[in-house]
Amino acid sequence: MRVLVTGGAGYIGSAVGAQLVAAGHDVVVLDDLSTGHADAVPPGATFVKGTLRDCAAEVLADGIEAVLHFAAKSLVGESVANPAKYWSNNLGGTISLLEAMREIGVRTIVFSSTAAVYGEPERTPIQETAPTRPTSPYGASKLAVDTALTEHARMHKTGAVSLRYFNVAGAYESAEGKWLGERHNPETHLIPNVLAAATEGRPVQIFGDDYPTPDGTCIRDYIHVADLADAHLAAVDALLDRDGLADYYNVGTGRGASVLEVITAAQEITGIHQPYEVVPGREIDPPEVVADPARIRAELTWKAQFGLEEMIESAWTAYSRTPAAAIA
Ligand code: UDP
Repeated sequence: MRVLVTGGAGYIGSAVGAQLVAAGHDVVVLDDLSTGHADAVPPGATFVKGTLRDCAAEVLADGIEAVLHFAAKSLVGESVANPAKYWSNNLGGTISLLEAMREIGVRTIVFSSTAAVYGEPERTPIQETAPTRPTSPYGASKLAVDTALTEHARMHKTGAVSLRYFNVAGAYESAEGKWLGERHNPETHLIPNVLAAATEGRPVQIFGDDYPTPDGTCIRDYIHVADLADAHLAAVDALLDRDGLADYYNVGTGRGASVLEVITAAQEITGIHQPYEVVPGREIDPPEVVADPARIRAELTWKAQFGLEEMIESAWTAYSRTPAAAIA
């Protein structure tokens, strides 16, 4: 099948693109390289540099049968400082993509959504029926896209699945032995920050240790990027099988790990026992965010295979092999 991967030069898009290539699909990556890296485009994929607004129609018209849509801005803090950028890129860009899909007749899309649509949950694990009250323009823009996609699919009798990722981590090794890991700049995520601090011999910061959790630090549901890639393949298969499927699914393991547990696991894996320092917690951080993945398991027969150790180990391998210049 010929598949368009928007944002396929980014962390998650490149890993999913590589898995699609390995599964024998013909992959076209569209990415404007505003945050992605050209060298992360999966080997074997065709690369088009450009924006959704300017280039989606032309790329789709070239025989695309399904779209996996990752192109988006994804920094929560930046979204608070500059909400218009998030509405324009994330919602505006997707509307351009949907319009182009409608004109050309491409009927299948899987979207990279997020647990941030739920905001501060009333209870965990979080089910898809939980209230959606995002606490940042980033989460709000992703929720707006979830709604636009499912409405568009119902209206035009096409297929759309939004995958609401919990905390994606780890690295994916392509069939060619290339490690595709996190290379954000600035990096805000916990696991790459822990690994960078270990390598640079400085303490990692823990954002708050007085949350209502067993060790006082925040609990998150970390999900391996390779598992996430499988979830996308399962979603595409389901869309091709079931006419008019328009739905959203949580993608997580159903197990939480605290910031301290992540740091301890990383110390064991790297062998570097760097100290940590506790700084005040961020206002936007809920104490505990864990998925209930029952729905995706029942309906798409997908289940996470990997645990925290494998995520940190693979992230460490990718980090150790990526020159510092390529991370900046
Ligand atoms: N965190 C931390 N130190 C860091 C980065 C993150 O203590 O250098 C915490 C953060 O407050 C959250 C958890 O680690 O509780 C996961 O943060 P991340 O940014 O990876 O994902 P988020 O859950 O914020 O999307």
